Amino acid sequence: MTDCLFCKMVAGAIKPDVVFEDENILAFRDINPQAPVHILIIPKRHIATLNDLDDAALAGTILQTATKLAEQEGIAEPGYRTVFNCNRKGGQEVYHLHLHLLGGRQMIWPPG
Ligand code: 5GP
Ligand code: ZN
Repeated sequence: MTDCLFCKMVAGAIKPDVVFEDENILAFRDINPQAPVHILIIPKRHIATLNDLDDAALAGTILQTATKLAEQEGIAEPGYRTVFNCNRKGGQEVYHLHLHLLGGRQMIWPPG
């Protein structure tokens, strides 16, 4: 079994609060939410960082999953934020690519 936390979720060894799943994607609620809606969208295939994402179709699927989930969660019209943290200075802590979908409150810019 891999040491990667999110691969363990894909394999079913750890069970997050899943909001969407298909053959390529898993989306689940963040354990430490930074907004009323905070969902992580991940590829099932292990990709460490955004720098390693070389599959344009998969990138599009991740983004389209975010817009669909934003609609489903009722945050599409008031607005929301999507974030890829990349590597240490980007604030990445889990080295399995994930897109944060955040909403349900006013976002501020610039982020910390
Ligand atoms: P990063 O800083 O790598 O962009 O974001 C990692 C995210 O994963 C954080 O928002 C953190 O709260 C979330 N996270 C870490 N461990 C777990 C876990 O075991 N379950 C869930 N659902 N989220 C986690
Ligand atoms: Zn992984």
